[in-house]
Parts: sequence; C-alpha cells; structure tokens
Amino acid sequence: MKSVTEVEKIILDLVEPLTQTVSVSLKEAHNRILAEDISSGLDFPYWDNSAMDGYAVKFDDVKNACSDNPISLKIVEEIPAGYCPQKSIEKGETARIFTGGMIPSGADTIVIQEETERKQGQVLVLSAPKENHFVRRQGSYYRAGDCLLSKGIKINAPEMAILATAQCLNVPVIRSPIIAILSTGDELITPEMTLQRGQIIDSNQYLLTSFLEQNGVQVLSLGIIPDNFDTLKKAVTSSLEKADWVISTGGVSVGEYDYVDQVLDELGGEIKVTTVKSKPGKPLTVASFRDHKLYFGIPGNPVSTMVTCWRFLQTAIAKLSGEKNYPLPKIVKGITNSQLSSQGTRESYIWGNVSLIQGHYQFTVASGSSNSGNLVNLQGVNALAIVPIGTNLIEIGNDVQIMLV
Ligand code: AMP
Ligand code: MG
Repeated sequence: MKSVTEVEKIILDLVEPLTQTVSVSLKEAHNRILAEDISSGLDFPYWDNSAMDGYAVKFDDVKNACSDNPISLKIVEEIPAGYCPQKSIEKGETARIFTGGMIPSGADTIVIQEETERKQGQVLVLSAPKENHFVRRQGSYYRAGDCLLSKGIKINAPEMAILATAQCLNVPVIRSPIIAILSTGDELITPEMTLQRGQIIDSNQYLLTSFLEQNGVQVLSLGIIPDNFDTLKKAVTSSLEKADWVISTGGVSVGEYDYVDQVLDELGGEIKVTTVKSKPGKPLTVASFRDHKLYFGIPGNPVSTMVTCWRFLQTAIAKLSGEKNYPLPKIVKGITNSQLSSQGTRESYIWGNVSLIQGHYQFTVASGSSNSGNLVNLQGVNALAIVPIGTNLIEIGNDVQIMLV
C-alpha cells in the first residue's frame, strides 16, 4: 500500500498535459487555458490621458502658484473622456479635462479640480502641482508587441478584461480534456427509476459530472455498468477510445464482484496503484494505457469518491488541461474545534468546515455521522482535516493540517 504523497507523485508523473489548440470566441474564453502567448499592437494606455478631473496645463506656467499667488489661465477647450482634443495648449492656456480624457498637445501636467477656482473663461490655479502629475503616459503599463499574456495561464476575470482591451476576439486555447465516467454495480439505478429494496441510487455520476465540469472537463457519461466482466470490458474499451481519461466508481475493492483491475489488466493497462494509505479512499486503481490515457478506478462510497477527487484528481486535471502553474492542494495549518480520531494506520481525511478567525484557521467536523457511506453531511463542506499516520487523536484546540476544498 502506497502513501498519499507517493500516489500523488505517481499520478502527476503520469499526466501528460494536452497541447492541441482550438480557437474560441472571446466570450467563450473564460476558464480556458491560453494556448499561445498573446501580444497586442496597441500600447496601454493607448494615449496619454488624465488620471483625475481637473485642468491640463504647462507645468512651467503654474510651478510658482500658491494661495498668495494664484495663476490665472485661459480655458481653451473642454476634454471629456472619449473626445480627441482639437487645440494645442499655449503659454497661459489650459483645457478643462476629465478622468480618462486625452492630454492635449502642449500640456504636460494635470492640476486637480480641488486646487483651482473657476472664473468664467478663466481658472485660478491655487497651488503648484508636481511636474507630470496625474498624467497616465501612453505605453506606461504595456508596450505594443511585448508579451501581454503568457501561454499556459488560466483565463479568469482579469485575463478576460485584458483580452478584451487587446481586442483579441478569437482566443487560442487548449482543447478541453475529455473524461469518460461510469458507475459500476448491479445494485445501482438512476434517480428516475423506482427504488426496489436493496438497490442504491447512482449518486456518483452526478457528483463526478459536477466536479469535472467545474474543473473545465468535457464529461462523457457512460451510465451504469453492471458487475459483469464482459460488459465492463466493452464499456472500458469504448471509453478509452473516446476519452483522454476514464474514471469509474465502484468495483475496485476485494469483493467477488470487483472486476475493474482484471479488466484493465486484460486490456493491457499498466496498473500503477491499487491501494492508498488513506481513509476514506483506500482502494484506488490507477492504470496507464498507450497515448498517455489514464484510468482511475475509485471506490464506490460517495464520500470516498469526493475525497479522492479533491485529494488527487483536482491537481491532476489542472495539469492535464495544460495549465502551466497548476495549483497543488491547499494545505494550511490551523486548530481544531472538534476532537479528531483515527486508527492511526492510514492518513485520515475528516470532512468539515474551516473558518478564518482573527488570522487563524479553525476546523469543525461536519455534524452527523462521519461515515464514508454518508453523503448527506458532505453538504457545505469546505475543508478536510488531515490526521497523519501514527496519530490516534488530535484534541480540541491542538494544531492540525487542513486541506481547503
Ligand atoms: P464498491 O466500491 O463497488 O464495493 O461499492 C462500495 C459502496 O458504495 C457500496 O455500498 C455501493 O453500493 C456504493 N456505491 C457504489 N457505486 C455507487 C454510486 N455510483 N453511487 C452511490 N453509491 C455507490
Ligand atoms: Mg460494487
């Protein structure tokens, strides 16, 4: 049985980032991974403009201004944002200007409105500004032709704004990963079916679809596959053809109906992991196939499925997606408000909630039964407390490692 960190490394080493590029419209670029460096033919700012509402002046004209010596300037033009100045500022002249307005030629400094007094066509400057003050210079944020956004970044809200400003209407992104999912088990039915005694509703299909889509994956759902060797083999064969990865739930324990590992072996998969020293989520099959295709066989219990997704798959999917600096699990130090117990033989992940109180993370176990078959108290969970191997108990008020999810 391998440790959690060993398995994490094995999985990440197996993941081959996707590189195929597709072009999407700007509106569809959100949450995608940029496939090429982006540059713009425009400087930012596009032209010198004012950072404040005020008056565009020649610094030389007003450098000695003070309340005892106000300087009077003639207003020759009004420049709101979006207007192209028509006049040049000569000695003794100024232009009324608003935030974002273009600096007229001849002017080099902005005097803010609060430091002036308006007198019909004149303005009195009551104090000397600093030279070049409140002028946003053309190209001071970015020079045309330089790299604006680097390939491999995830396109979030700031990057969307930058792409829009650069008028990048078609964005080269890495194609989305395709992951096939299937639920194994004779006992499973879909939520639409009438529950007969002994059956279980396939909730994992919904859990996985939601988790994967949230992580930018295109999901190929194969539905429920009965515990039958040949049917499972057929389903796995066809999903390996269509998808980058396959994730199945159930059928990886040591029970007589657990066929996944046999099927993978027969299909030529190299089985790299079968069990992890973690609770929940001990049975975990990871197999690699040709063309960097991977198979993840996750235990069927919904909580095990969720914890396995959070602990191992989130980072692996980010790497597969082509994200250059893919995020590792966020593990922070905090204190526990609940007693945390473990058998001490496996790394335990106890689900609950974390809050940041006066700069300290505090963890509370989810109320209700902490059993890996109980999906009800998974709702609202935002953290997993980690009890390391060799520790049986962490008392209230003691330090604990907490993984944010
Ligand atoms: P298995 O890993 O196949 O031994 O399943 C472990 C437990 O998880 C059993 O109680 C199954 O009924 C349950 N289970 C398996 N697959 C699912 C699923 N897709 N949705 C909900 N529960 C499941
Ligand atoms: Mg089963």
